Amino acid sequence: MIREFFLGFIRIHILYHASKEPVYGAWLMQELARHGYELSPGTLYPALHVLERDGYLSKEVRVIEGRQRKYYRITDRGQMVLVEARGRIAELVHEVLDEGADA
Ligand SMILES: [Zn+2]
Repeated sequence: MIREFFLGFIRIHILYHASKEPVYGAWLMQELARHGYELSPGTLYPALHVLERDGYLSKEVRVIEGRQRKYYRITDRGQMVLVEARGRIAELVHEVLDEGADA
């Protein structure tokens, strides 16, 4: 239940990092853990798949030390969502964190 709330945050996080450089699952899991999101592969990989399927990420398979690794980078469509999300995040932060300051 709580996970559902944060799934949107996680998706935006993934888009953000994929806009900076190509990212892969294990790296994202570490990065998200650093931010306090303890994700299982069973949550992260389907999320990546959906973002790719819906055109927000593109996938590139590279061979690293003999093993295939899937790298994801943001698409133009994903970039549009990220830009829109920035505005909404700013508004949300303003409202939620300023609670009490001017209520
Ligand atoms: Zn991060």
